Amino acid sequence: MNLAGQRVVVCGGGGFIGGHLAKRLLAGDAKWVRCVDLKPRAEWQQESASAENVVLDLRLKEACEQAVNGADVVFNLASDMGGMGFIERNKALCMLSVLINTHLLTAAREAGVQRFFFASSACVYNGEKQRSPDVTALREEDAYPAQPEDGYGWEKLFSERMCRHFEEDFGLPCRMARYHNVYGPWGAFAGGREKAPAAICRKVIEAKRSGNQEIEIWGDGRQTRSFLYIDDCLEGTQRLMESAVNEPLNIGSNELVSINQLVDMAEEIAGVRLKRVYKLDAPKGVNGRNSDNSRVKKLLGWEPSTRLRDGLAVTYEWIAERMRGRHA
Ligand code: NAD
Repeated sequence: MNLAGQRVVVCGGGGFIGGHLAKRLLAGDAKWVRCVDLKPRAEWQQESASAENVVLDLRLKEACEQAVNGADVVFNLASDMGGMGFIERNKALCMLSVLINTHLLTAAREAGVQRFFFASSACVYNGEKQRSPDVTALREEDAYPAQPEDGYGWEKLFSERMCRHFEEDFGLPCRMARYHNVYGPWGAFAGGREKAPAAICRKVIEAKRSGNQEIEIWGDGRQTRSFLYIDDCLEGTQRLMESAVNEPLNIGSNELVSINQLVDMAEEIAGVRLKRVYKLDAPKGVNGRNSDNSRVKKLLGWEPSTRLRDGLAVTYEWIAERMRGRHA
């Protein structure tokens, strides 16, 4: 399938990845794009003027029917989520996103939608395989036996499974991406839903401006992760959606860094050195997580091309500009 010429619905289109995806689809000649989100439009991260922009609560079946009406293709990027600080403290809210995917799948099937995308997550992976910072990169089969992140990860694993059976039993073609820590401009950087790269950039910018030479780090800073730049995420997402691959695939980077190394990079970009204060009782997630990209590379010929240092510099600048605007 080629997304050009298709009638596309982006659920969660007022969010970070959804907003970028809508722009890309419009630039790539989708027939039309409808963005749907729960937030009032004034709070959307980005809004494409040439898209149809609709506010709906997709936990409701009728709203899902309205959202997918007339569509060939549905992307489900809508969920109640955030960084570790949010998902560790809001497990029930995260699990309620199961209503969104369930009702969207049902509505898509009834409306004769031709292809459905679900944004899953690296949080589906078995926690036992992520105990050490020196982690072996996660392969797709490492999601089972199931022991995902409590709350958020269980919802993602269940919803992946639901997509699989909607395809097998009802013939609705589904594509599933397991995103690993996506970052970039237009991502949340304050307010409680932000993730590590944006939070660290914000803290470094605040320290630099206030002259308070300290930075608070959640955990001991030795936990490891990989971070995927938004442009790479969009390219991987489109390739997966246009492919015949109906199994969940990692869409992540395999450039593993510790949180301390991520702070080093942000400090270097900012031209400062800060005293690190470790908050050991803060939510920090698993000790190590990395993406094994052999399968996605083999099946889609895709791997990320943006180095973390480069993507972080662009993100840092974007956040710094926003923060200058707020202070002006
Ligand atoms: P985001 O929070 O910026 O976007 C999600 C959007 O969904 C938000 O705008 C939110 O308002 C909307 N939403 C929530 N509940 C809704 C409802 N009931 N009805 C309609 N809209 C609703 O997050 P994002 O980073 O753009 O993530 C997009 C998807 O990718 C999510 O499903 C997320 O779980 C998944 N994912 C993201 C990452 C990442 O690092 N960004 C990693 C793994 C998985």
